[in-house]
Amino acid sequence: MKSFDIIIIGAGIAGLTAAIYARRAGKSVLVLEASTYGGQIINTLDVQNWPGVESISGADLMQKIYHQANKLGMDIEYEEVLSVAPGAGIISGNGEESATRPVWLVKTDESEYSCGAIIIATGSNEREMGVPGESSYIGRGVSFCATCDGAFYKDKNVAIVGGGNTAFYDALYLADLCKKIYLVHRRGQFRADTILVDKLRARKNVEFITPFVPTKVEGDKKVTHLKVAPSEGGAESTLSVDGIFVAIGRSPRTATFSDIVALDANGYIEAGEDCITSAPGIFAAGDVRTKSIRQLVTAASDGATAATAACRYLG
Ligand code: NDP
Repeated sequence: MKSFDIIIIGAGIAGLTAAIYARRAGKSVLVLEASTYGGQIINTLDVQNWPGVESISGADLMQKIYHQANKLGMDIEYEEVLSVAPGAGIISGNGEESATRPVWLVKTDESEYSCGAIIIATGSNEREMGVPGESSYIGRGVSFCATCDGAFYKDKNVAIVGGGNTAFYDALYLADLCKKIYLVHRRGQFRADTILVDKLRARKNVEFITPFVPTKVEGDKKVTHLKVAPSEGGAESTLSVDGIFVAIGRSPRTATFSDIVALDANGYIEAGEDCITSAPGIFAAGDVRTKSIRQLVTAASDGATAATAACRYLG
């Protein structure tokens, strides 16, 4: 079984920043990633709040960070973590057996590894609307990624559900492509930045449907309609749409770790700004942990904090 000082689970901005810090501190590092490196930001076409860079695509930014971590000597395997469990052995700061720390065992779909510390940086999944018809039309009109699927809806009518920055970035992107956009949001106020709200309000082909909630997705082979109702209750209306882009936030990817670390009521890993969890030697970084601001820079900051805490823990 291969052994590392630190195993980082997740290769988004938090995980890769942790890898950079841990490698610079001289620790052996394995990053385990279930799909592709980069995390959720790779779907954002234009990132304008990464300090020092006025504008960059999320994919380009993550490629640079990935190369930086690679150059510093991180190992990365594209394997899905199935379980994390305490091992029988003990491990020292340099990966050799000694009498200092408990070993953690990480089992993946392909292999098994041991390590002295783990940084969980698994981020989150898209939240679903939970209305009838939604799940059966995913990939047939219901999408969670405007920049991935927007081109299929050129000159068509689409609805975007949500009132945060993602919904507004998506709506601005789609407004350039589509004939008509309905922005459906459950409140009259938006979480999105005012600058984005003002930009979208200026678009002629965008209609704001607020305060309304989606109630049903309808279609034949593909989506044809989205039913909506006033948030406070009342008669349903029907929007004729070819596509529905859902942008109502995300839920943390923590199911695999629920037996090992304490989670809050919403499923986030309980950890403060020090990124320390309830389990010794396990740290949480980025969107996956309890925190008030989930942004690229705060995820990167968590990566640095978690790696530094893990290095201190290992000694
Ligand atoms: P947010 O949590 O910011 O917004 C989610 C939106 O969906 C809210 O308006 C919320 O409504 C609504 N919503 C939540 N649950 C439901 C539901 N069940 N039914 C209907 N509506 C619902 O998520 P985002 O994905 O927009 O953004 C996540 C974070 O990422 C934010 O901090 C954001 O600023 C950041 N971000 C940054 C970007 C960048 O820097 N370039 C790009 C995109 C996102 P309500 O307001 O009523 O709660």
